[in-house]
Amino acid sequence: MENVVRDRGGSATSSGKLLTLLSLFVMEFSGVREEDEALKALTSVLKRAVDVKGISLLDQDMKKVTGEDFDVQRYEDLMKWCKENSVSTFVQDGDHFVGIVPVMKRENLFGFILVVLPNQPSLEETETFRIFSFLAAIVLENIKLYKSLEETYNYVSNIMNALPEAIFVYGKDGVSFRNRRFIEANFPDQVMRKAFQLSEEVLELGKARVGEVEFEREYYSIVSQPLVYGERVFALTAVANVTATKELEKLRQIDRMKTEFIANISHELRTPLAAIKAYAETLLNNLEELDAETLREFVRIILQQSDHLEKILEELLDFSSLERKSLKVVKEEVDLCSMIEEAVDAMKEYGASRGVELYFEPGTDEARVMGDPRRLKQVLLNLLSNAIKYSKEDESEKFARVTLERNGNGYLIAVEDNGIGIPESMKDKIFEKFFRVDSSLTYKVPGTGLGLTIAKEIVEMHGGKIWVESEEGKGSKFFVWIPEGHDGG
Ligand code: ADP
Repeated sequence: MENVVRDRGGSATSSGKLLTLLSLFVMEFSGVREEDEALKALTSVLKRAVDVKGISLLDQDMKKVTGEDFDVQRYEDLMKWCKENSVSTFVQDGDHFVGIVPVMKRENLFGFILVVLPNQPSLEETETFRIFSFLAAIVLENIKLYKSLEETYNYVSNIMNALPEAIFVYGKDGVSFRNRRFIEANFPDQVMRKAFQLSEEVLELGKARVGEVEFEREYYSIVSQPLVYGERVFALTAVANVTATKELEKLRQIDRMKTEFIANISHELRTPLAAIKAYAETLLNNLEELDAETLREFVRIILQQSDHLEKILEELLDFSSLERKSLKVVKEEVDLCSMIEEAVDAMKEYGASRGVELYFEPGTDEARVMGDPRRLKQVLLNLLSNAIKYSKEDESEKFARVTLERNGNGYLIAVEDNGIGIPESMKDKIFEKFFRVDSSLTYKVPGTGLGLTIAKEIVEMHGGKIWVESEEGKGSKFFVWIPEGHDGG
C-alpha cells in the first residue's frame, strides 16, 4: 500500500452534477425503513456517480451488508484508523485504488464503504464519496431514531395495554390514545359523557378531576389528570367499573353497623331493665315506709320503662319481619287528621319532658286515605320521637310542628323541628338499616338506627314516599307523601 491520499474536503462539486446526484439520492432513499436497505441504496447511488470496479458496504462491525466480497481483514487496521480520525482514505493496491469511506455523523459510526477504483480518484470523486456517506449517515441516524421512537411507543403502549384500568388520552384535537381495556370495555354513553366532561375540565384548569357515575345499578369511577408534553397539555383519563368494590364497601359498612347495633341494643335494653329492677327492688324492700305519692311515682317509672322496652322489642320484631319480607299492612279508610292528632297527643308528654313543644297545623280538615292506621301512626310516632330526641340542648324554643296538606292525588305530611339537623351527605343514608349519624350529639340519645328504615318500608308499602330536608345545626323537615289509594294504589 502506498500513496495514501487523505481526503479532507476540497473544491466544490459542480452544482449541476451535485443536483443530479442529490435527486438520485432522494429517489433511492425514499421509502427506506431498514438500515441494510439504506446501505444498498447508497451503493446504487455511488455506482452511478463514480466509475467503480467494485463496491462493498459493511456495517459498523465490518461485516458485509451488500456488494462485492473483499478481503476485509486486509483493510481492518485502515478502517479502524479512518473511524478514529473520521476521515476517508484512498490507497493504491497493485494496479487499482481502494477507498475506505466511513459512514458516520459526529462520533456515530453506521458502517463503511469499501470501493475499488480503476484510477486514482479525482478530488470531485472523493468529495462525492464524502457527501453521500454523510447524507447516508443522516438517513441511518433517522432510521435509528425512528426505530427507537417506535420502540418507545410500543413499549409504552404495551404497558398501557397491560394495565387493568381503561385509559384514554384526550387533547385539544380529541382522543389521541385508547388502551386495549378501554376499547374492550365499551362504557355506556352516560359514563363516556362524564369522562369527556372531566377531561375537558382538566385541559381548562390544568389540575386533576375525579367523578363517579351510577348507571343501571353499576358504579363507574373516573379519574382525569393533566399530562404535560412539551408545550401541550393532555388529559390522561382512567375509567373503572367499581361496582364490586362499592358493594363490598357497603357490605362491610353494614357489617360494622351490625356490630355497633348489637353493642348498642344491649345497652338500650339494659338501661330500662336496670331501672325497672332498681325501682322494683326498692319497692319490695321498703313497701311499708314509702308514702302513696312516692309509690305512685316509682310505679309510673316502672311502667314508663316497660313501655320503652316494649317499643324497642316491637321495633326489633318489625325489623325482623321487614328482613323476612313478611311485614304486612292491612288497609282501611284512615282519617289522617285524627290519626296525626292522636300521635301528637301521645307524644306531648315525652316532648314536654325534653322541653319540646308539639304542634299540629292541618291545612285541610278532610284527609282520608286507604292505609293501615296502626302502621301510619307508627311512622308519625317515629318522626315525632326523633324530632324530640334530636332537639338542641341549648335551644330556648324547641318545637316539632306537623303540617298536612293536599298534594297531587294524595296528602303530604311534614314533621319539622329546630333540632341538631342532618349533614347533607347523610340525608339518604339515615333511611338505611342500622344507620345512625356518627356524631357525639347522636350518641347522647338512645336509638337503634331502625326506626326510619321501618318507616320508609311502611310508607313505600302504601305506594308513598318519605324524604328529608335538613340543615345541620338548624333543624330537619321530614316529608311523608301518601296517595289516597281509593283506587287500590
Ligand atoms: P334512631 O333509633 O337512631 O333514632 P332512626 O332510624 O329513627 O334511628 O334514625 C336514624 C338516624 O337519623 C338517627 O340516629 C339520627 O342520627 C338521624 N335522625 C333521625 N331523625 C332526626 C332528626 N329529626 N334530627 C336529626 N337527626 C335525625
